[in-house]
Amino acid sequence: MSDEHQKKAGSGSGHTLLMIGAIVSALVLAWCAPAFAVSLKLGGEVFLRLLMMVVVPLVMASVMSGILGLGDVRKLGKPGAVAIGYYLTTTILAVATGVLIVNLFSPGVGLDADSMMDDMGTTEHHEKLDNIEQNEEGPKNIGDIFHKMVLMMFTSNLLKSMVEGELLPLIVFSIAFAGLLTTMGSRSETMRTLIVSINDAMMGFVMLLMKFAPIGIFCLVTSSFGKFFLEGDAWAKISSLGWYMATVLVGLGTHAFITLPLILWVFTKRNPIQFYKQMSDALLTAFSTASSSATLPVTMECAEVNAGVSRRSVEFVLPLGATINMDGTALYEAAAAIFMAQIYAGVNPDFTFGFTEQIIIAVTATLAAIGAAGIPEAGLVTMLIVLNAVGLPTTYLPLILPVDWLLDRFRTATNAFGDSVGSAVVDESFPAAEGTT
Ligand code: ASP
Repeated sequence: MSDEHQKKAGSGSGHTLLMIGAIVSALVLAWCAPAFAVSLKLGGEVFLRLLMMVVVPLVMASVMSGILGLGDVRKLGKPGAVAIGYYLTTTILAVATGVLIVNLFSPGVGLDADSMMDDMGTTEHHEKLDNIEQNEEGPKNIGDIFHKMVLMMFTSNLLKSMVEGELLPLIVFSIAFAGLLTTMGSRSETMRTLIVSINDAMMGFVMLLMKFAPIGIFCLVTSSFGKFFLEGDAWAKISSLGWYMATVLVGLGTHAFITLPLILWVFTKRNPIQFYKQMSDALLTAFSTASSSATLPVTMECAEVNAGVSRRSVEFVLPLGATINMDGTALYEAAAAIFMAQIYAGVNPDFTFGFTEQIIIAVTATLAAIGAAGIPEAGLVTMLIVLNAVGLPTTYLPLILPVDWLLDRFRTATNAFGDSVGSAVVDESFPAAEGTT
C-alpha cells in the first residue's frame, strides 16, 4: 500500500464507527418514533439515487480502465480464469451451505402456513406477488434458464441498457471495446487517457459521497425499519417466521464468517479480521441499501484504498462480481425454496421431494443468483425460476414476503463480501510486476 493509501485507510475506522452509530441510532429512532422515522425517507432516497447515479458510468469506466491497465488483452487469461473459477466455486459452496442448513433446521416441517398467511396477507404483499409473477416469464427447465441468461449478456441497444441499468451487457461491451483499444497503439491514446481520467473522477465523486454516507444510511435504515414497526404486527411476523429467519441467517453467517475468510486466508494469507474492518463501510452500505449495484462504488473504494487490493484487480473483479457473483442470494434462494417445499410436502402427500429435487434446486439457485440484478429483493423475482424448476407452486411465496426485505440486507452484505474476497484472491493471480498500480 502506498503512504497515501495508508493515510486514507487510517481515517477509515472513525468513519466506520460513524456508520455503525448511524445504523444503531436509526434502529432506535425507528422503534421509538416510527412515524417520524418514516418521514426521513426522502434523505435516504436522495443518497440512494446519488449512488445509483454513478453506477453505470463507473462500471463502464472502471471495467475499461481495468482492461486498459492490462496492456495486452491476452494477459487477461489467467486472472480471468481465476475470477470465473472463484465466482463459480463460492456460489456452489454457498448453495451447498444453504441446502445443508435448511435440511438440518427444517424450518418448514410442520409449519401451519395457511393460518399464518391469513394473518399476514396484506394487500401490499399480494400486489408485490402479482408484480413478481408478471415480471417473470417463468422458464420451465434448465435449458430455458441458460438460454435466457446467455441473452442477458448481449444487448441490441447499448443506450437502452445504460438507461435501464443492465450492467451485464455493458460489461461485455466495455471488455470488448477496451480490448480493442489496447490493440490500436498510439491511435487510441487520447481515448485511453480520457477513459482513465473519467474513472478517476468517478472514484473521486464516490469518495465525496462517502463523507455524507452516515446521514444517508441513517435515513435509509430508519425509514425502512420505521415502516416495519409502524405496521404494528412487526414482532408477530418476526417470531412466527423466526426459525426460518434463523436458518437463513445461520447459513449466511457460515458462508460469510467461515467459508469466505478461509478462502481469503488460504489464497492470500491476509488476516480475515483485518479484511472485515477494511471492507466494513462497504458491508454497512450493502446492509443499508440492500443493493449490490448501489454498493459497488463503495466496495471498490474500500478494496482499493483500505485493503490495498490492486486497482486492476478491483476494476476487473468487482463490477462483474456485483452483477454475477451473489453468494448470499444463491444460498438464500436454495434455502427459501426448500423451506417452501417442506411446507408443501406437509400438505400434499403426492409431492415428491427427494435428492433429485434438491439437486435441481441447487443448480437452478446458482443460475438464478447469477441472473439476479444487484437491486433490492431481486432474488425474490428470480426465485420463481427455482420454484418452477421443481414444480412448486407460488402459494407459499407470500409467507416469506414480510421478512424478505430484512433478510435481503444480510444476503446483500454477504454478496458484497464475496466480491471483495474475490478481488483479493484474483489480485494474487496477476503477474507480480504488474500487480501494483
Ligand atoms: N439485493 C440483492 C443484491 O443487490 C439481490 C437479492 O438477493 O435480492 O445483491
